[in-house]
Amino acid sequence: MRVAPARDWNVFQQIFAEHWDGFKHAHPRYQTSYYEGLVAKRLRCGDPDQMGYVEYRCLQCGQGTHRVAMSCQSSLCLRCAKVHVDTWVSQVSTMLHEGVIYRHIILTGPAMFRTTFSHNAAVVLSALMRCGGQCLDDFYSEVNDEQGERWEHLHYLPYKLLHRKWQWHLLRMVRQTLQTEVVNQLVDRCFKQYPNGLVSNVHKGNVPSQYQSLARYVAKYVVSPPIAVRRIDRYDGHRGTYHYRSHRTERVEHETVDVDTCIGRMVQHTMPKGFKRIRYYGVQATKTFAKVKMAIHAALAKVEGVVKGAIKIIARLTYRQRYKQSTGRDPLICPHCQSEMGVWRIWHPTYGVIYDEGERIKRGTYASSAPRAGP
Ligand SMILES: [Zn+2]
Ligand SMILES: [Zn+2]
Repeated sequence: MRVAPARDWNVFQQIFAEHWDGFKHAHPRYQTSYYEGLVAKRLRCGDPDQMGYVEYRCLQCGQGTHRVAMSCQSSLCLRCAKVHVDTWVSQVSTMLHEGVIYRHIILTGPAMFRTTFSHNAAVVLSALMRCGGQCLDDFYSEVNDEQGERWEHLHYLPYKLLHRKWQWHLLRMVRQTLQTEVVNQLVDRCFKQYPNGLVSNVHKGNVPSQYQSLARYVAKYVVSPPIAVRRIDRYDGHRGTYHYRSHRTERVEHETVDVDTCIGRMVQHTMPKGFKRIRYYGVQATKTFAKVKMAIHAALAKVEGVVKGAIKIIARLTYRQRYKQSTGRDPLICPHCQSEMGVWRIWHPTYGVIYDEGERIKRGTYASSAPRAGP
């Protein structure tokens, strides 16, 4: 029995390397080239010889070197998860209207539909996103009809109405999309079981609490991996132990599960191929975004100073900045002479050597077009 070192992302690699085939066998719906690709990529991640690399070298003293392996960017890869989330946050934040306060509403589905959704993800998830947007449109236009053409404070949303609206939109969508007798019965049962509609969690007050970073807040729900690498405590070849902070007991709990459950919990968070996890509607719709942005700017100019805690754009960090942030050290400064290092070599497993500074020096073309230290 091997005991893998604690808090090591390699544990995850090992679990997938040793048990992915068995898992696939037990769960045939994951036997697709799409999942194969995701797993194969994540198994190679971080290995410069398999993924390719950029090598930096100090051109002053020739001693300092720094090698960066290409990352796999697979949604299943916990090593890439942080960068993936950061990039996502930055992309989404550029799509938010600066100066506006957003409200976070969660539309939940009843537990009785979980299996139906999980088994029909490919057809039902896109319809689900659309129907959420339609529900909110419908809800807000009804609220408007009742209250006329004046601005309403967001605290006065009639939640009971939203609960019933959401139930109606969701169940109609499920019935129309799947059209089976079993689903029809489930829908009828749901209407009976929840006569007051389905829960929609609307946060009150200043929410998200870290309001400047709405995108980061939403990322927790949308792109964060189901489990962080640092939560894995042990893997003995058959079972994995991890810890988490329980909302129920408000304590750190430990759980040991067999590897199949472990893998299952990871992969069930990957969406069908090509699925867009985020869609923009209404004032966010891509088509009219620029126009709406101008209108909002004009409106905000009139209430300047009134809006507190509004959206700020979050810039994307480069590899160099991220490295500095987590280690406190600039990876591209030569530790021997403190000069800035330059790109020495770029190698890709398919294309071979893409850039070679040494060759350039030999050929005498050095210093003409050497790329600056980056990225
Ligand atoms: Zn990766
Ligand atoms: Zn140096």
